[in-house]
This record gives sequence, structure tokens and C-alpha cells, in this order.
Amino acid sequence: MKDLSYDVVVIGAGNGGLAAAATTAQKGLKTLLVEQHNLPGGFASSFVRGRFEFEPSLHEMCDVGVQGCLGGAGEFFESIGLKVEWLRIADAYRMVVDGESKLDVTMPFGTQAYIDKMEEYVPGSRESVTNFFELSQEVVDGIGYIGKSKGNPDKQVLMSKYANFLKTASYTLDQVEKALKIPDKACEILNAYWCYIGTETSRVNFTIFAAMMLKFIAGGAVIPKNRSHEISLAFESRIREFGGDIMYSTKVDKILVEDGAVAGVLTTGGRKIKAKHVISNAAKHIVYSQMLEQTSEMSKECNSRRIGGKGYVAYFGLNKTMEEIGLTDYSYFIYPSTDTKKMYDSFASRDGDPLQAVVCLNNVNPGCSPEGTSMLTITTIYTDDAWDDVEEKNYVKAKNDIARKMIARFESVMGVSIADAIEEFEVASPETFARYTGAYDGGIYGYEPEALDSIMPRLMMLDDDMHVKGLRFCGGFAFRCHGYASSYMSGNTAGLLTYRDSTEVKS
Ligand SMILES: Cc1cc2nc3c(=O)[nH]c(=O)nc-3n(C[C@H](O)[C@H](O)[C@H](O)COP(=O)(O)OP(=O)(O)OC[C@H]3O[C@@H](n4cnc5c(N)ncnc54)[C@H](O)[C@@H]3O)c2cc1C
Repeated sequence: MKDLSYDVVVIGAGNGGLAAAATTAQKGLKTLLVEQHNLPGGFASSFVRGRFEFEPSLHEMCDVGVQGCLGGAGEFFESIGLKVEWLRIADAYRMVVDGESKLDVTMPFGTQAYIDKMEEYVPGSRESVTNFFELSQEVVDGIGYIGKSKGNPDKQVLMSKYANFLKTASYTLDQVEKALKIPDKACEILNAYWCYIGTETSRVNFTIFAAMMLKFIAGGAVIPKNRSHEISLAFESRIREFGGDIMYSTKVDKILVEDGAVAGVLTTGGRKIKAKHVISNAAKHIVYSQMLEQTSEMSKECNSRRIGGKGYVAYFGLNKTMEEIGLTDYSYFIYPSTDTKKMYDSFASRDGDPLQAVVCLNNVNPGCSPEGTSMLTITTIYTDDAWDDVEEKNYVKAKNDIARKMIARFESVMGVSIADAIEEFEVASPETFARYTGAYDGGIYGYEPEALDSIMPRLMMLDDDMHVKGLRFCGGFAFRCHGYASSYMSGNTAGLLTYRDSTEVKS
């Protein structure tokens, strides 16, 4: 078998890998994208059961924006000519807390509308919540400035223009909310998106939460009309049009290293592909322990981080419309409590009532299922060893029991009847996510962003963290933390840095 040779090999065609390959191919680097599956996207995909085509992961994507006012991800998509039919989501979320405390609020998109609504629910919150959004804007602008300065920001500019961003960069969300004197009830409503990060508010880094919150509330959220598979296919086309190659059904086993620098990759089939640059969409935990000779620096870096939440999703195809069922919103957060630490701790066990992030796809995408039907998905999170006692013989029962429990709870909280309308039903457990994409331990949330280890230190350490010359990372386990927009943007950055590295090598 003849050795192949490329400028850059990208391992994995998840969101990060697709964005990285599109970037390097557009820049003119001879690019090969290698994917172990027979289709692109990783979590960004779709699957069919009976007459329903389900969205496996995406609830909503921020940072796309609208024509004339694009977000960072929207600008990147435009720069590579990505064509996707986006649908905008009307309201931000409906949050229902049903436990020791009770709450039922519906929050809109649009910063002013959000602040006004909050004032209605929590009189006297206006000033502090306005300050929260102004600070969040400074955070986003500060990150943007550091990005534009290619990791070499002018300290004077940072200190004069983005002082509050610097001051809060190593704080937790709770610390900043307390400093801003936001009333407790307003904090509970503001914190609703915490389940999208999966780290409790007493530990989660303020910068990452503030950036996410602002991007959702100020910029709104979208979904693609034809499930996230549509985005993955659009990327695939652009990569090929830029001259990049894609190899499906091919797993990379090893990254080849010579004199401390990347020399190529070795596939499961024993094929050697030469390249001076590799961008990995597979997590550092996997690359360092399985694809490379692990050094103590590599183990230290991995061991200092906690793997984020493991995913669990129950997908339901219903033979009734959302109108018949009585659900009018798109996104519901059903929380057993407003105490995020308590909810986080409960992720460690399969007992109890887990929080639910529920999506009614038809309420934004009416034509997504046959007439007279609808689709509903319920997502929750687990951590630690919550699934370790499950053996093969009781696996199906274990995963279906949780789905039954969750649908019964959703029915009782919302006062609707769903069980009698279920026509198709599927479950993805942490086991499914681990098997499907190779996600480490079924983790779908990358490495947890804590106060001292989040997007800023990870961005500032990009070059220092290169344990092998020519090896960069992208995707949910890389420096931007997880999420659709973050994964695409991390791929774009890794691609641009690889292009810079390659021109430095040549000159
Ligand atoms: C249930 C669920 C709901 C979510 N909801 C949202 C949401 O609403 N909004 C949002 O923004 N984000 C959401 N996310 C998070 C988002 O999906 C992820 O952060 C993002 O898709 C991760 O992308 P990635 O680039 O890390 O790629 P991954 O999807 O992890 O893909 C990695 C790819 O690499 C391939 N690969 C791995 N190892 C190898 C190898 N050795 N050789 C070849 N190929 C390899 C895999 O097969 C896979 O295709 C959700 C995730 C899940 C699972």
C-alpha cells in the first residue's frame, strides 16, 4: 500500500474537525479529514425511527446571528460559504421548578426584553441584571480583542478597556452575581442555562457562562431545518470544493512522531499517512493515552481536569400534534430544585428525579414530522459512576426505566398526557455516545470549565500546551469548551494556527 502524504491530517469529522478541515483546505493546505464513522458530524447528525427523523443532539445554537448582524460562528460560516437553512427560535426558555421551591417563567430573547421580563417576575432586579448584561458584553468584547490580537494582546489596552473582564476572569458565576447584588430569585432565573454547561454555579467560571448567556439572549438561537446533519453535509461539500479529501470508515490508531514533531498518522488498516500537522477532534485523554507515547506533562494536564457531563436522551415520536398535547413552547427546563449544586450532585446517581431539558421540535420546525405527528426529546446529564453498575443483561431495562420515569415526571409537571401517544421511542445513554463518537467515558460536555481553568487560560496556553510540535486540538474537549458554536470556532482557530505553523516551517 502506497504511503499518502498531506500538509495536514484532521482526525475526526465532528463539528470541530469539519471546521478545522474547511479552514485549512480553504487556506490552500493539502488537507485530509479522517473519520471512523461512515458519515460526517459526530453528534451533529440525524437518525430515523419509523416515520420520524430525530435530531440526536442540538437543542439550539447561539452565535449565528442574522444577516447584517452575524455572530462569530455566523461570520465564520459566511467566510467559508456554508449554506444552511436556519430557523429562528422565538423564546429563550420556559423554566419550571417543581420541588421544595416552585417557579414557572418564560424568558424571551433580546437583552432589553429579557431585563423587562425579569423585572416583572422579580421587581427591583432591573439595575443589577442590566449590570450583568453590560459586564457580559465587556467579557465578549474582551475575548474578541484577545482573538483579534492572535493571542498577543496589549496589556495596557486590556487593563484600560476590559478591566472588569480581567477582574472577573477567574471568578465563579455565584461570586459575580453576589458582587452585582442580583436578587436570589433573579439569579435562579438567570442561571437556567447552567445545564448547557453542566457545572454548578458555585464552580463554573463566570467568563464562559457570561459569554454563553449574552450570545443566546442578545443574539438569539437557531436550528437548521433538516437537523444538524444538514450543517455537517454543508461542511463536507465545502471541504471537497476547497480541494480537501475525506476518508470515511477509517480510524486513526496512532499519531506518528519523529524528533518530537508530528510525522503523520497510522490508521487501523495499517495505512501510513505522512503529514507535518495533525489536528485532533478526538479528546486529549484519548490521544495522549492511546495514540501517543504518554509523557508526565500530558498525564498532568489530563488528570488536572474533570470530564464534563455524560449525556442521556430519550427521543419520542408521537402520533399527536404538539397542539393536541398542549405544549406550545420549544425549550423547557424542568428542574427539581433551584440549587444547582444539589442538582449537580444528583448527576452521580440514576436514582431520583434528574433535571430535564425538553425540546418540542415541531414548535419551531412545523414540517419536521408527518402531518398529525410530533417529536419530543428529553435530555439529562450524569457524572461519575452513575452507570457503572449496569451490566449488558440489564442495560435495556436500565435505560428504558429512566425514560419512563422522565416522561411521567414531565407529564405531571406540565399537566399533559404523552405516554398514550408514543409511536416510536429510542434512548441514547452515555454508552451510546461513547460508542458512537468515541467520546471519552460518554462525556458530551468536554472538560468542565472551572473558575481557574476555562476558556481564557486555555486560550492563553494554546502554544504552551503543544506537547508534540505540529499537534493541535479542536472540538468540545479543546480550548473553547463544548457546544456547537464553540466547537466550530475551535476548529476554525486550530485551522488558522496550523496554517500559521505551516508557513513558519516553510519560511
Ligand atoms: C444530547 C446532546 C445535546 C446537546 N445539545 C447541544 C445544544 O443544544 N447546543 C450546543 O451548542 N451544543 C449541544 N451539545 C454539545 C455539542 O453537540 C458538542 O459540544 C459538539 O457537537 C462536539 O463536537 P466535537 O467537535 O467535539 O465532535 P464530536 O461530535 O465529539 O465528534 C468527534 C468525531 O471524531 C471522530 N473520531 C474520534 N476518534 C477518531 C479516530 N481515532 N479516528 C477517526 N475518527 C475519530 C468521531 O467518530 C466523531 O465523528 C449537545 C450534545 C449532546 C450529545
